[in-house]
Amino acid sequence: MARINDNFLKLKAGYLFPEIARRVNAYTEANPELADKLIRCGIGDVTEPLPEACRRAMHGAVDEQGNSETFRGYGPEQGYDFLREAIVTNQFAGLGINADEVFVSDGSKCDSGNILDIFGPGNKIAITDPVYPVYVDTNVMIGNTGEADESGAYAGLVYLPCTAENNFVPAIPEEKVDLIYLCYPNNPTGGTATRRQLEAWVAYAKENQAIILYDAAYEAFIQEEDVPHSIFEIDGAKECAIEFRSFSKNGGFTGTRCAYTVIPKELKGFTESGEEQAIHQLWSRRHSTKFNGASYPVQRGAAAVFSEEGKEQVASLIKGYMGNAKLLREACEKIGLSVFGGINAPYVWVGCPEGVSSWEMFDRMLEGAQVVITPGAGFGAAGEGYFRISAFNSRENVEEVCRRVEENLG
Ligand SMILES: *Cc1c(COP(=O)(O)O)cnc(C)c1O
Repeated sequence: MARINDNFLKLKAGYLFPEIARRVNAYTEANPELADKLIRCGIGDVTEPLPEACRRAMHGAVDEQGNSETFRGYGPEQGYDFLREAIVTNQFAGLGINADEVFVSDGSKCDSGNILDIFGPGNKIAITDPVYPVYVDTNVMIGNTGEADESGAYAGLVYLPCTAENNFVPAIPEEKVDLIYLCYPNNPTGGTATRRQLEAWVAYAKENQAIILYDAAYEAFIQEEDVPHSIFEIDGAKECAIEFRSFSKNGGFTGTRCAYTVIPKELKGFTESGEEQAIHQLWSRRHSTKFNGASYPVQRGAAAVFSEEGKEQVASLIKGYMGNAKLLREACEKIGLSVFGGINAPYVWVGCPEGVSSWEMFDRMLEGAQVVITPGAGFGAAGEGYFRISAFNSRENVEEVCRRVEENLG
């Protein structure tokens, strides 16, 4: 009898995006003449093409693969040195991170899920609310939670509410937790954490021998001077944090796939009998057993993000998206909504009018402006009363969205 992992049966059947699709379909069936007008500002996917520098590097690498002199088979599981070194030099200069502490992969979604392989049962898990759903679902799959209640909250998880009152950075929990997921700049709220707030989290983690899983997928969107780019800017973080980074949102690699995880050698976990164990060693073993390295042409493309041209091209992509975010912020402010995020992140997080739920707001935007947004409640209970507009779109679409919002919803 082949037993399954029963934990999978606890998963809520991906409520958010199917429900969005259902409402959009019902609307376009009832109003076929408006179907073409629909603008989707719901998805967290980039819209602009890969930078030219990346494409050129990838073409070159494909040609190398076509020549027996330069052909490469299996590469190092942890990534080629040329990429690991470029990452350290360009992203972690002065922070004391070594190239062999960088593990290259095919995505941060996979890394942030797979990391649970190296942690044992019984860890108390803290997640922010609202949250990137991957952190929750991967903990459900591996058995770190109980069942979900009607609101979708899982027994056993410690939810850390993030609202306008705390500027979308959670208070330090009063209870002891073992693993803490933090994502800054944040998806979905677009919020950032200050140095002082991260210092408090690092102090908490060290005191409780906990580990912070820090997702910095949106690091490249930081515009303000005093916003930390990496958890490793905080003293002591190397003893209590893992950082996830990706080329998806800065270099537009969502369909090309390349990311990396930084695990300092100082970072320790504990065995069942309480002995210290280096996390780096465990992840290295896990990565080289279950992963055979990201594709060579893709790693060449990723390294080109750090070339002079690549940097300029990425900066121009970011500038475009952040220009969109500014327009979206202004349009929502003009119609009297309270607006958050969109300053150091490509997501604008908007408060619904008094008494309007986030799904009601979804319907208003769909019916009044033919714009698809993401209702905040879909990211967790504390997201109720908010909605997310993504700045990943063409300028033309964003301008049209702003016009419709101001004219039809004001
Ligand atoms: C987009 C995104 C990522 C990147 O995931 P990839 O698998 O590298 O594409 C990671 N974390 C968050 C919160 C994201 O929104």
